[in-house]
Amino acid sequence: MKALFVLAILLVPIICADFASNAQAASAASIPTEGGTWADPTITIVINPQLAQPWFKASYSVDVGRAISRWAESIIVYTDASGSNFLRKLSFLTYVAGNQSLPANPDIQVNFIQSFGSTQALGLTDLRISKTGNVGIFQAPATTTLAANDPTSAIQLTDTDMINIASHEFGHALGLDHATASVADDGTFELMYKSYGQAVGNLRNTLEAPSTLDLYALSYVYDWLATSSTLNGSGHPVTSLVLPSEASYSSVYPYPEQIQMLQNSISQLKLEIIILAIIAALLLALVLALVILLSRKKPVQAQTYSWQFTGPPAPTGAFARDRLSCQASILSTSDPRLPRSSNATGLVLIWP
Ligand SMILES: [Zn+2]
Repeated sequence: MKALFVLAILLVPIICADFASNAQAASAASIPTEGGTWADPTITIVINPQLAQPWFKASYSVDVGRAISRWAESIIVYTDASGSNFLRKLSFLTYVAGNQSLPANPDIQVNFIQSFGSTQALGLTDLRISKTGNVGIFQAPATTTLAANDPTSAIQLTDTDMINIASHEFGHALGLDHATASVADDGTFELMYKSYGQAVGNLRNTLEAPSTLDLYALSYVYDWLATSSTLNGSGHPVTSLVLPSEASYSSVYPYPEQIQMLQNSISQLKLEIIILAIIAALLLALVLALVILLSRKKPVQAQTYSWQFTGPPAPTGAFARDRLSCQASILSTSDPRLPRSSNATGLVLIWP
């Protein structure tokens, strides 16, 4: 019996309140599988660009290729930290139609449309599953369809948007359903959440990566690779998975992107240190200026001077009397005792 599964990523804006509530539930996040597995670890993908369409960007083909290769890179990072090295047996062979000879029967076909319109979708993956009981094996070809524009056809996806949406759909094509949390515990977007958490077309959008939860579920779907390179029995039925209690819930970025993010953080830190140093220097200069200003305005203490007669011994007799009668007199310009050339009025001490 064959069943057709259609898995879509819906365009539903996430507001801050949603982020908050989802963030609280992130630690208890779960993700169901789709109840199937590819029977061969080598998965072939053909990308079908729409170069003749005005809404299509030639870079979208490269974006889809990068989305798929990033899954392989995230698997390397995840298995380095968490084991499950059998996941590295998964091999993704990507082809672009028109550029090279194509495999006759690829596992996944990737197509593009201008917009999904009223369905509010940005991407869609059709998985054909051959089921025995409730356990299934994926049948080629699965088909992924990616929109170039948002549902209104007014906004074109950036390359980052296209990589993110294609990564999400590729997660479906590998056997993962939607995670219940929109953000991981490290605050990054959960790639397999049902809604795209970023505004389509925003040039500031960031790349998303599979989370530890997504890759843990992937290791469950493909655990048969631990003992064989070919599926001999069957996979698992639909199972909702949560991370083991000791595992951290975070996005697993490829190593080169982690290095780049670290360098960006260091650059940001340097910039912040420089800004803090400048602010500290300005504050210090301001304090010094205030200290100098206050010291200049400090009130001068009143000085008491005493006149001491240090000249010759005080005269005695009549001379002494005459001298003691020394007095200040205001002289007018007509006073004959002033120099003739002076017309000043002044205060002088005279000896009568
Ligand atoms: Zn989806």
